[in-house]
Amino acid sequence: MAQHQFQTEVSQLLHLIIHSLYSNREIFLRELVSNASDALDKLKYLTVAEDAYKGLSFEPRIDVSFVKAEEGAGPSRLSISDNGIGMNEQDLIESLGTIARSGTKAFLERLADEARRDSNLIGQFGVGFYSAFMVADRIEVISRKALEEAAWKWSSDGASGFETESAERESQGTEVILYLNAEGEEYANRWSIEDIVKRYSNHVAFPIYLTYDEKEYDDKGKVKSSKSKTERINSGTALWRRPKSELKEEDYREFYQNFDPRSGPDSGEPLFHVHTRAEGTLEYTTLFFIPKKAPFDLYHADYKPGVKLYVKRVFITDDDKDLLPVWLRFVRGIIDSEDLPLNVSREILQQNKVLANIRNASVKKLLSEFKALADRAAAGDAEARDQWETFIGEFNRPLKEGLYQDWGNREALAELVRFKSSVVEGWTSFADYVSRMKGDQKYIYYISGGDERTLRASPLLEAYRARDIEVLIMDSEIDDIVIPGMGRYRKPGENQEELELRAVNRSGADEELGEERDKGAEREARPVIGKIRKALGDRVKDVKLSRRLRDSPSCIVADENDPTMQMAQMLKALGQGAPEVKPILEVNGEHPIVARLKDLEDEEAIADIAGVLLDQALLVEGLKLTDPADFVKRLNRLLARDAAAS
Ligand code: ADP
Repeated sequence: MAQHQFQTEVSQLLHLIIHSLYSNREIFLRELVSNASDALDKLKYLTVAEDAYKGLSFEPRIDVSFVKAEEGAGPSRLSISDNGIGMNEQDLIESLGTIARSGTKAFLERLADEARRDSNLIGQFGVGFYSAFMVADRIEVISRKALEEAAWKWSSDGASGFETESAERESQGTEVILYLNAEGEEYANRWSIEDIVKRYSNHVAFPIYLTYDEKEYDDKGKVKSSKSKTERINSGTALWRRPKSELKEEDYREFYQNFDPRSGPDSGEPLFHVHTRAEGTLEYTTLFFIPKKAPFDLYHADYKPGVKLYVKRVFITDDDKDLLPVWLRFVRGIIDSEDLPLNVSREILQQNKVLANIRNASVKKLLSEFKALADRAAAGDAEARDQWETFIGEFNRPLKEGLYQDWGNREALAELVRFKSSVVEGWTSFADYVSRMKGDQKYIYYISGGDERTLRASPLLEAYRARDIEVLIMDSEIDDIVIPGMGRYRKPGENQEELELRAVNRSGADEELGEERDKGAEREARPVIGKIRKALGDRVKDVKLSRRLRDSPSCIVADENDPTMQMAQMLKALGQGAPEVKPILEVNGEHPIVARLKDLEDEEAIADIAGVLLDQALLVEGLKLTDPADFVKRLNRLLARDAAAS
């Protein structure tokens, strides 16, 4: 017998599971059945793909059985057994003593804080084998690897370590035996096992059998006879292969909930699904689900892909990030192809034409379904509107990623992404913006680089508001990356012009505000502008008389080819070498504060006003001042002078 220690992370995970999942204990059975099913998938695949395994006669199945202990006669036992790939000693040590998945460590850190507040999170994650320690004080795993002679036993009390020793098992596969604790006692029961398996594992592709004792009782309530019975308890159809006409919403929902450990009962229903069967040159079936909530790892670099690849119902992989484009990583579902070779390797998968075609067709199909939903919502269908709102609330951002990653589909994506607006409530599309454009408006205007409140309050919007010109409020970080790259938009349909997207915080964006420059006013303002320019020196790139301000005295804009100040501050915060950008200060010649400078000669007073004009313009755009104390000092001096004067 050999003693082993758990990897530190395993101990942490065990601790977390036991302390945060107690309200959701029953999922341990889902996890063990999934592992058994994976083991069967793996062996089934080998028997078709590799010669060495072809001789193996093999009826894949999962067996659940239990022994209910009499009062006080030690623990009850629950056993989950499969005739799948099996594990040898090395596999046992590696699989059940460490955490193999790379994202797990990082996830654990996050989990440590969040799991306490949100026990759903850990359930979503798919905690795996170790969850069985919630219901068992001791676990034994007896396993024999396919094509090997020796069997091995792994056993542990889930505390600090585990033991391995040689064991007996007639054929390949794995049996997990749980020595149930007080909390687990209720699972040594026919009805609760059946109930849990049906709920979580009904569509597992392999038959799941339950063995139980059927007892007969005499009039005094004593057991008269007891007969062991074995019954299949799951339906196990590859649902996606069944005709749509036979399937009900309920079937899809059940399939979804059992599809992926992370989309357990807590994630509830899918938002909607897209089920497609293609026949002809290429034969395949796809069943995609759009979740109601974004997967927790949507923005992790090592997110787990949501699509499983099958070939003729044989599971190939659930770990291929190229089955759909990255921006569609929130989609869950399956692709089942008739035309791929079974023993296709990962490298070959990536260059495979069949798969590339399925992928392209799937993206087109999903895009058209998204658009159809948007159209139904726009047409006033209440249910569609709710679905669309949820959809865009969760997935607007990945769709925007698609706008710059997926050149081939950018036109379709441009019809799906949504923005806030200075004139309408809620979300709006580019197409709707264009429909609302006034006769002579030539550009699509947007403001970006801050949160919604800051952007809406920006003085830059004043002139647009006064002229009733709509400005899109782009308050999401990704907008700053996507929109400049996109550059232009053309509404689908005949006679539609391509329109340039213009940021209002650019120095040139005021040209088409529709007014001629007032030469007289410019001339008049020149001395004032000169005074401010002199006072601010190299804090600004330039000072100009503004054409876009109405109520505010000043604003800042970025020069045509400079990054915006917000962008520069963001890059700096990320520790990236950002170029030193200086703003252009625009002042409102009609504002009394600015007008006051005309007759002012006191250099210190001029410097105070100029400094405050610049700093308040920076502040209102949500930017940090480099010298806040200086701003406060100047402001106080100005107020004190005013007080003295009156
Ligand atoms: P996960 O299933 O997410 O990988 P688990 O902790 O549930 O995490 O299992 C760890 C590993 O142990 C699995 O990846 C698999 O390699 C192995 N394993 C677990 N159960 C079985 C089984 N019944 N048959 C074969 N291997 C198994």
